[in-house]
Amino acid sequence: MAVVEDRDKLCSPCSRIPPIKDIILGSDEMWGSFQEFKSSALNGCPLCSYLYNEKRKEWDSLEVEKSLYPGEPISLQWNGPLPVRPPPVNEEQSLILECTWGFQYNIDYSIYVDADEPISKTVPFRKIDPDPMSDQVIAKVNGWIASCSRGHSFCHPTEDALLPRFVIEIHDSDETKPSLRLVENGTKMARYITLSYVWGIRPQPVQLMRENMAQLKESIDYDKLPSTIQDAIRVARRLGVQYVWVDALCIVQDDDDIKKQQIGQMQNIYGSSYMTIQAANVATVKESFLKLRNSPKPFKLRYDDSSHVYLRGYTPDRMPGGSARQRAWVFQESILPNRLLVYGEHQLVFQCREGIQYECGFRANQVKYRSPATPSFLRPGNWLNYLGKRLIQPFPLLIADWISSRHGILPLMTGIQPECSPSQVTDCLQSAASLSVFKRKLEDDT
Ligand SMILES: [Zn+2]
Ligand SMILES: [Zn+2]
Repeated sequence: MAVVEDRDKLCSPCSRIPPIKDIILGSDEMWGSFQEFKSSALNGCPLCSYLYNEKRKEWDSLEVEKSLYPGEPISLQWNGPLPVRPPPVNEEQSLILECTWGFQYNIDYSIYVDADEPISKTVPFRKIDPDPMSDQVIAKVNGWIASCSRGHSFCHPTEDALLPRFVIEIHDSDETKPSLRLVENGTKMARYITLSYVWGIRPQPVQLMRENMAQLKESIDYDKLPSTIQDAIRVARRLGVQYVWVDALCIVQDDDDIKKQQIGQMQNIYGSSYMTIQAANVATVKESFLKLRNSPKPFKLRYDDSSHVYLRGYTPDRMPGGSARQRAWVFQESILPNRLLVYGEHQLVFQCREGIQYECGFRANQVKYRSPATPSFLRPGNWLNYLGKRLIQPFPLLIADWISSRHGILPLMTGIQPECSPSQVTDCLQSAASLSVFKRKLEDDT
């Protein structure tokens, strides 16, 4: 029997469910009908209740359909390559309930396994630790970075780069609180992390101005920094990176000459960074992106005599949501870096030019993401295609947002108004493409 806990409360179909490895071998009809399944769920069978309640919305919407096709059985299946082996890129492993009510419906249940069980060799899906700063999560991030920097020919081959003109330097003299200062560089080579985030408030609590530059070069008070920036410093410390670039503190906000010069180097600043951290799960700089993640109770099933599979209770969101991903300038900051660590609502996503790795264990290839960084991506058709699918803000607004973003790109352009009508989009894009950030790439393409 597959179910491990509360066996005495199982309904009779659930008590007959074999270990998962036997389900994998074929599709098994488990419940005679939706009515049987639902009434077992409502009567307290632990597995039926779990399966029903975790996907309640989907079941409820199917219930309307099923009224047309009563009495059809529900099968339990393994969704993944067979024989069981680590899934190829872009492929999933999960358990599905298949219902054939005139049409075929699959309701998918995300799974994971413990790393110390034999099945972990063939099932790469793991539990998501609620704490994004746990040792386990940091080790995973370090592993992603190490395999990228050592083995990926498309990604940045070296770790040290010429530091941007201004960066925050971290000294770890104090365990609980880092000492920070702004440094101005000319020739120093080192690793640095860039931060991509939503300001949300203006002006920021601490930002670099001509008048406080000398003071920030003396020291930056960690306690006065907003949470998002504090978090970026915390992550950098844990990853052993001494320098962080954050626009609010590394672009002189009231010096147009320096600002213009730095904006012109945005491509280099992001493109040469060791990694960009993207705080995609927060809407303002005052929020912490290192908040605890959702961790519903799993359901334990026996895989075979030596391993278990856990139903995860939810499907971790793979497209980090939140306001950050809907903003065009964040999109821009997403395509310039070689390595991007996205803090999403449910999990971390590590994206480099050779692949995308999800904390849950899923892997995706990088064709779509690699192409944005290539010149052909800058053709308007490609933008429309890319943005339209992923960003919910209307396209013209996105472009307007990007053009009038906080980096002050608008003043660098001529003849473009921030409020574009749909018919102006193409013009808008062509002008946007003349920005220094992309100019060289476009020239390379022709
Ligand atoms: Zn049951
Ligand atoms: Zn890589």
